[in-house]
Amino acid sequence: MTETFLLREDVPLSGYSTIGLGGAARYFALSRSQEEVVQALRFARSRALRVQVLGGGSNTLFADAGFNGIVVKIELRGVSYLEDGDWCLVSAAAGEDWDTFVRACIDRGLAGLECLSGIPGAVGASPIQNVGAYGQEVRDTIVRVDALDRGSLVAVAFDGRECGFGYRQSRFKGNDKDRFVVTGVTFRLQRNGPPSIRYPELRKQIESSVDLQSFGAGRPALQAVADAVRALRRRKSMVIDPSDPQSKSLGSFFLNPVITTEAFERLKERRGEVPSFPAEGGIKVPAAWLVEQAGFPRGYRLGGAAISANHALALVNLGTTTSELLGLARRIQEGVRQRFGISLDMEPVVVLQD
Ligand SMILES: Cc1cc2nc3c(=O)[nH]c(=O)nc-3n(C[C@H](O)[C@H](O)[C@H](O)COP(=O)(O)OP(=O)(O)OC[C@H]3O[C@@H](n4cnc5c(N)ncnc54)[C@H](O)[C@@H]3O)c2cc1C
Repeated sequence: MTETFLLREDVPLSGYSTIGLGGAARYFALSRSQEEVVQALRFARSRALRVQVLGGGSNTLFADAGFNGIVVKIELRGVSYLEDGDWCLVSAAAGEDWDTFVRACIDRGLAGLECLSGIPGAVGASPIQNVGAYGQEVRDTIVRVDALDRGSLVAVAFDGRECGFGYRQSRFKGNDKDRFVVTGVTFRLQRNGPPSIRYPELRKQIESSVDLQSFGAGRPALQAVADAVRALRRRKSMVIDPSDPQSKSLGSFFLNPVITTEAFERLKERRGEVPSFPAEGGIKVPAAWLVEQAGFPRGYRLGGAAISANHALALVNLGTTTSELLGLARRIQEGVRQRFGISLDMEPVVVLQD
């Protein structure tokens, strides 16, 4: 077999994760087409290497010791638009930059992704954890996910209902973890549709610059919402900005726990008022509230690892290592468990060396 895909050895991974941590990968492949993904997977099989698929590295934490396998970075490109009455089917290759893709949809007056502006990463990762923010999730608009089965190397497709989406969850992260490489995603977006404004915080932000009474649909309204989302995110250091050290993170490090109604009632009996939201399968308690109430304020540090000064759920690299950062995460988890009896799950994918 001739290997046409770009393969390098001993590649430092810190430059491929937004938090800037991690040792070197034994092998690192850039895959610009489906064929190159297949070649990289065959190479891995021939040498019995572990495979770690990578998009923009904004939800991936690599070990200090690196990764003793092959990292396959997905670089497939291309976006196509198919008009369908009041709707548009937009298909994007997995390696497209998410935020650039969202901007392009807004520029065309396509509604459905505007609240997801400013999120880093690649399109191919968006279905993995059902990316969401400010009342929108990709499960609202995804109609098809194209993928490659890592075992059979055969191309497969799933419609939105087959993806098993839940809160920061999907089949690709659950039962079928590490089974597929997503190669493309198709979204059904509304042409000249109205933007989604579900969160009071977002409504307030929009009202600070635009009159909501005269707020219409289509491009200007979508743009105004995207601008408001971006402004809110920037204040929380939730957009990647090299000049903002508090944005050297992986976004939220902990998921909001969903607990049963009975557990929630018991918690209220012991602790008084507890903020909450209804959720599938129970009651969602904001992890940020739990962390702060357990005695971990914004800016809390363990060496060079810190809770962001601008967001209670983001852990930031102020000159740290992965093991120190995970030490901070465990300390927070233990504190929340002791105070509330609730386990906090980590959101990012932690890639161990072997
Ligand atoms: C500042 C900041 C803010 C953030 N805000 C949000 C937010 O508001 N909402 C939210 O949901 N997330 C948020 N995130 C998390 C992250 O941006 C998203 O989860 C994003 O979708 C990850 O994309 P990525 O390409 O960087 O994924 P990566 O980190 O590269 O990969 C994440 C996981 O997906 C897998 N994966 C990636 N690409 C593919 C593929 N093509 N096929 C199969 N598996 C794949 C990887 O193997 C890994 O398991 C934020 C992160 C940061 C740093």
